[in-house]
Amino acid sequence: MKLLFLIADGMGGWPLDETDGQTTLEAAHTPNMDKLVRRASVGRCRTVPEGMPPGSDIANMSLLGFDPSEYHTGRGPIEAAAQGLELDPDDLVFRMNLVNLTSLDEDGTMLDYSAGHISSDKSVPLVEKLQNELGSDLVQFYPGIQYRHLLVIRGGARMAESELDIRPPHDLTNQSIAEDIKTYAKSDLLNSLVRKAHEILKESGTEAVSIWPWGQGRPLILPGFKETFGMKGAVISAVDLIKGLGRASGLEVVDIEGATGLVDTNYEGKVEAAMKFLEDGDFVFVHLEGPDESGHMGSIKDKVTSIERFDSRVLAPLYEKYGADSAFMVACDHFTPIKTRTHDSEPVPFMLSYPESEDSGLDSFSEKNSASTGLMINKGSDLMRWVLDQISQAEK
Ligand SMILES: [Zn+2]
Repeated sequence: MKLLFLIADGMGGWPLDETDGQTTLEAAHTPNMDKLVRRASVGRCRTVPEGMPPGSDIANMSLLGFDPSEYHTGRGPIEAAAQGLELDPDDLVFRMNLVNLTSLDEDGTMLDYSAGHISSDKSVPLVEKLQNELGSDLVQFYPGIQYRHLLVIRGGARMAESELDIRPPHDLTNQSIAEDIKTYAKSDLLNSLVRKAHEILKESGTEAVSIWPWGQGRPLILPGFKETFGMKGAVISAVDLIKGLGRASGLEVVDIEGATGLVDTNYEGKVEAAMKFLEDGDFVFVHLEGPDESGHMGSIKDKVTSIERFDSRVLAPLYEKYGADSAFMVACDHFTPIKTRTHDSEPVPFMLSYPESEDSGLDSFSEKNSASTGLMINKGSDLMRWVLDQISQAEK
C-alpha cells in the first residue's frame, strides 16, 4: 500500500467572530476532506515537543517520524541541508531573512518578515552583493529563495553566537525589535554584520532594508528515512526547510517550477510530481505552505482559499488516482491562527484513511471534530510508526 502524507502548513486555527465562530478550516468548502473523514482514524497529534518553539521545522520533523528533541539543531541547519551546503560539524548556520523594518535600533518596528515577499530575482543579487562586500573566510552569505537565505559562521558552533536567542521575524510583525537589537549587540561580529548589511540594503530600492539572522545551530544529521521506515519516499514542497528535512534523511527532493509557497502556488505541478514519483515510490510527503502564509498575513479570505485549493487541487486528484488502494494522512504541522498571526503549539488535527478504514461517524474534518474522538498521539514523531502499524494490521 502506498502512503501519502498531505500536509497543509498552518491550517489549524481558532474560531473567529468574522466567520460566525467557525475556524478557517470549518469555514472553507472542503468536500474532499469531508468525504475522506467519514472513513478514517481521526485524532490529534502533538507535533511540537514541550519546551520547543512551534516552528514548521520542528513540527514537520515530527511528522516525518524524527524526534525534534533528539535531532533538531535549528532552522538554519535544515535549510542548509536543503541547499546541500558543505558544512563542518563545528560550523554555525543561521537562517537569514531579508526584512523590512522602520529603523535598525531599539526604536525600530518589524514591518515585514518577508520584505514584501521579495522575489528571488531581486533578493539573490542582494545576497550576492552582501557576500562580495562582507563575506570572508569566517563569514559566508548563501542566497536561497525569496526572502529566505543563509548566513554561515565557520567554526561558529563553539562561539558565543551559538547561544544567542533571536526571535523569528514572522513573530514580530508590527512589533518592537528592541529586544533583538540588544541580543545582536551581544556579539560584535553579528552586530557589525547586521549594521553593515543595513547600510548596503537600504540603498537597494527594495523593501529588503535589513538582514535578520536567527534559528542558528550546528549542521543537521538525521537517520535515513528508508532505513528507518522501509519506504522509498519523496518530499514535495516549495519551502527550503521541508526540502532540507527530506535531503537530510535521504528522501528524494522534487523541485517544482512555480511552487511559490503562496496561495497561487503550482498545485498541479505538485500533484503531477507526486504521481510520477509514486510510479515506483512508496511514500510522498506533499507540503502546502499557503494556509500558513495567509495566517501570518492575517487574511481570512486567503487562508480559506488556500485550504479550499488544498482540498480541490491536491487531495481530490490524488485521491481519485490512489484512493482505492492507498493510505492518506491529511494533517497540518501546527496552527497558525488568524488572531495571533503566528504559530501555536496546540495539538494538530489529523486523519488517516485507507480502504479498510472504519466509519468515524464524522462528516467534516475540523479542529473540533478531531478533538472529539479522544485519539491523541502525544509524541509527534510516533505518528509515522503508528500509521505504519495501522496499515500493516489492515493488510493482514
Ligand atoms: Zn509559518
